[in-house]
Amino acid sequence: MSGIYIHIPFCKQACHYCDFHFSTQTGYRERMLQAMGEELKQRREYLPDGTRIQTIYFGGGTPSLLPPGEIETLLNIISSHYPLALQEVTLEANPDDLSKEKLLAYQSMGVDRLSIGIQSFQEPLLRYYNRAHTAAESHRVLDYARDAGFQKLSIDLMYGFPAPDHEYWLSDLEMALQKDPGHISSYSLTVEADTALGRWTKAGKFLPAEEEFVAEQFEMLQEAMEAKGYIQYEISNFGREGQFAVHNTNYWKGVPYLGIGPSAHSFDGTNRGHNIPNNALYLKGMASQGQLFEIDVLNQEDRANEYLLTALRTIWGVDLGYFEKTYGLDLRTVRSAEIHLLQQHGWLSESGDSLTLTKAGKLLADSIAAKLFL
Ligand code: SF4
Repeated sequence: MSGIYIHIPFCKQACHYCDFHFSTQTGYRERMLQAMGEELKQRREYLPDGTRIQTIYFGGGTPSLLPPGEIETLLNIISSHYPLALQEVTLEANPDDLSKEKLLAYQSMGVDRLSIGIQSFQEPLLRYYNRAHTAAESHRVLDYARDAGFQKLSIDLMYGFPAPDHEYWLSDLEMALQKDPGHISSYSLTVEADTALGRWTKAGKFLPAEEEFVAEQFEMLQEAMEAKGYIQYEISNFGREGQFAVHNTNYWKGVPYLGIGPSAHSFDGTNRGHNIPNNALYLKGMASQGQLFEIDVLNQEDRANEYLLTALRTIWGVDLGYFEKTYGLDLRTVRSAEIHLLQQHGWLSESGDSLTLTKAGKLLADSIAAKLFL
């Protein structure tokens, strides 16, 4: 089984915290989509032989900027060039782009999962982040999606905005849970250098929240989700039974995927690679049959560390048998002292053949993984 990720590299406006690859110039959108269709046709051989496409994911950027007909064109190219065993077709969407008609049109062409970038229901935060939508649009669109019969509905929420107290966050959690989506992804606000927030921070005009404040909000998130029956199947992802994102779970489990479009990453089961993160150069490369795709060479140690970092974040944890079979080392032996210490702190738990983070350990996931690195 494999997946296809399609990166739509356009947004209406730049959110002040975002360092994903996108452009707000959309005049050449059709040319870009043609090039991406061409890339889909050209890279049929990238995925392992005989593999079937289980998931398709439209991410970005803002895929919902595209009229449904353009999404359909890409889906048609996939279905006529790749063997399918589809379980999930996800589209990332922003509330301001979605009407009832558009939602029904996406659905009729096979999009069965929506991931909606709500981020916050607080108007002052939406304006500060420079989101293109309003809180009222978020409420409306979640009702539309429900009425349209989308069974798989995910919303993104962001925590960690520096405020005098937790009022904004508690209110966001309450509103999100009232909408009762099957899935919630929640990440903390981070300051990336090449963003408005990064520049304001450097100039002393923005002061990020204290680590402890952010950690408290993460704990509130975990508690609220648990109380409502959501399962934290990955540190930042919560789903009800049967609502876990198949596409993302496959990433974490090392299933191969093909990434199409500027900046998209791919994994063929052994090596990772990425497309050039520049729209003009991508178009130029496609027009001249030039080099678009660069392989990221990872040695065995890098791969093992990457596995530790990713697997530890999930509910399934590090599979020690898989680790030994794949990387030729018994982690229990080579990291015996570290594992013991992490268990003593109450951050790591060993059960059967797997290592998982405890609730307290989830606050320190990346540094715990680093302790186990080869
Ligand atoms: S809409 Fe999404 S991808 Fe576009 S700038 Fe905002 S956060 Fe980034």
